[in-house]
Amino acid sequence: MGTPRAPRPAAGPEDGSTAPGAETPVYPLSLRLDGRRVLVVGGGSVALRRVAGLRAAGAEVVVVAPRLTPALGDLAARGLITAHLRGYQPGDLDGAWLVLACTDQPRVNEAVAADAERQHIWCARADDAVASAAWVPAVGRTGAVTVAVNAGRDPRRAAELRDRLVDTVDAEGRLAEKTAEPAADWRRRAGRVSIVGGGPGDPGLITVTGLRRLREADVVVTDRLAPLELLADLAPGVQVVDAAKVPGGPAMRQDHINRALVEHARAGRAVVRLKGGDPFVFGRGREEVEACLAAGVPVEVVPGITSATSVPAAAGIPVTHRGMSQGFCVLAGHVRPGDSRSSVDWAALARSGITLVLLMAVDHLAAIADTLISAGLAAATPGAVVSDGWTRQQRVVTAPLAELADAVKLAGVTNPAVVVIGDVAQLTAGDLLVPGAPAPAGPPSPSPAGPPSPSAPAEQARAPGAGGATGAGRPGTAGGMPPASHATAPPADAPSPATSSLATTGIAGTASPQATLAAPLPPIPAAGPARRVLVLGGARSGKSAAAEGMLAGAGPVDYVATGTPPGSGDAEWDARVAEHQRRRPPHWRTAETLALAEVLAAPATAPVLVECLTTWLARVMDDCGAWDGDRDAARALAARTDEVLDAWRLTRRRVVAVSSEIGSGVVPGTASGRRFRDELGRLNARIAAESDEVWLCTAGIARRLR
Ligand code: SAH
Repeated sequence: MGTPRAPRPAAGPEDGSTAPGAETPVYPLSLRLDGRRVLVVGGGSVALRRVAGLRAAGAEVVVVAPRLTPALGDLAARGLITAHLRGYQPGDLDGAWLVLACTDQPRVNEAVAADAERQHIWCARADDAVASAAWVPAVGRTGAVTVAVNAGRDPRRAAELRDRLVDTVDAEGRLAEKTAEPAADWRRRAGRVSIVGGGPGDPGLITVTGLRRLREADVVVTDRLAPLELLADLAPGVQVVDAAKVPGGPAMRQDHINRALVEHARAGRAVVRLKGGDPFVFGRGREEVEACLAAGVPVEVVPGITSATSVPAAAGIPVTHRGMSQGFCVLAGHVRPGDSRSSVDWAALARSGITLVLLMAVDHLAAIADTLISAGLAAATPGAVVSDGWTRQQRVVTAPLAELADAVKLAGVTNPAVVVIGDVAQLTAGDLLVPGAPAPAGPPSPSPAGPPSPSAPAEQARAPGAGGATGAGRPGTAGGMPPASHATAPPADAPSPATSSLATTGIAGTASPQATLAAPLPPIPAAGPARRVLVLGGARSGKSAAAEGMLAGAGPVDYVATGTPPGSGDAEWDARVAEHQRRRPPHWRTAETLALAEVLAAPATAPVLVECLTTWLARVMDDCGAWDGDRDAARALAARTDEVLDAWRLTRRRVVAVSSEIGSGVVPGTASGRRFRDELGRLNARIAAESDEVWLCTAGIARRLR
């Protein structure tokens, strides 16, 4: 074993110079490795991390290991590192300035360290800090500053401290720039323009470089669809120029924008042109680059995450998917097919077999769909429209292509929205990861066997916990997916929904949470006058199933999902939404919307299923800030519920609305919990009073009350 010359402190692999009991402090040193050979023994993930750092420092990296991770193998195949696929041999150290022993075999690491010791080569062992002659600190870089931290035995703490130090350095840099003497920073004095893609709207989806440019800016010229929240963090002296181009509204002309960029830069300012998505995707970024170049102003482009791929992703839609779509085409739909300004070959697109992603297309969606269908694209091709992606207002509408435009109108969805046409559009799902949200628990359970049966989308009432109340719970969650006949009664004492005894009811092949109904429900007649039906019930009472059963066989149904859109951070909820969505009859149209009054007032003829009033109320209370008893908020909430009541009373459509029946003891005993319970009780009572039928479901038994 290598016997170090000096007494060493006990410490972890990426740790500290002053560990408790340290006899001798370490001597930090910054190595300039450019062109110098560094040996890495080991080919696993630790080695990969080390190799990445060494390459960034310009080292000539030699890896010795019988096996390499794929990424290391790739670096070797591309000649970016040298790899010897075998075990370590003593001669391997020859010519090396430094060695990192990263195998998972202490004996090998020990042998490497011992040889290195003899040859006076510094060796860092990944497995044993005490026996290691050198330690690798946590490293962060910002601009010209490199921060290296050792923190006792705690590498996580070292990494955290490193991050905080980098932030501090960044903040100080900004301060220094703001107060710098004119000559202190020649780059800024020269003026420059950074055209920065801000991503689709979530402030977390800008790039690291983009954020850095924003922090360095003197002037920010922003777009409407840029992540405007980022402007809140700008230093007080930073000038913000609003260059929003609202369709059909006020707009700053492009030549004025160009001139503003050039003039600010000429005045010696660091200018950021902040745009939504990527500057080079329908962003006119190149025009701005050219204006700067023509004026001799230094300009750079910082790409961003385009809405074309990321907004579908926010709804769970991949623009390509193995076995489903081998490509995608991004196009603008702001001019109508057939318009003399349109240069798009829609017929070719209809034949292409790839996913179509349309931006700025909501206004002409009907014409676009017609054109594609006339050119041979199947009318049943799945379609999805995602508006306000990555924001709290995000909505998703799905429908077959032929019905997509109507569904969008029905949901009141407007720009900004991304339209997806193609098989992948049916993959809207709730099981996605959103930055900052916990990972989903796992994939939703597979769809039940057999033909699509009326599904029972979940309702969610996260309400009492929202708005600051603690002890959040779900006063009512209802599931259930009875067979179409809903003919058999469930055991009322089923220990849990997931274990309800389907086998005893003879419904094989289903493993979903169940609550079947006591008696067949009369389907609502397919044609006929407006009819308002309220279906109440507690958690897993079968109310959703009952509601869906009422509309089974009624042709296309407009399914209005009022719950939290998938991807909001609740994995269980997401999985339920995805599962129910998959089971929903394919010809139903889905709209995630809170605009219930508009849906009820729409002249459309398809029946509506509102799933459900409880989640609607919770989200509207969120919107209004009505959880803590604020008077103005309560008034705003009252206005929203009145509006829905009026629309319910006057609707010309057949509507079935599901709502929770919750009593005391079910909601948390907090003020906001009780407020929610009371609001919901009042809403249910008012809706019931204006309904043609009221049903109550409990323990899987549906009973008509009126
Ligand atoms: N450069 C941008 C696109 C600008 S064109 C990018 O790469 O994303 C503007 C169009 O982008 C909008 O009409 C809409 O179709 C789409 N869009 C941008 N942000 C969006 C968002 N958050 N949600 C839905 N669509 C969005």
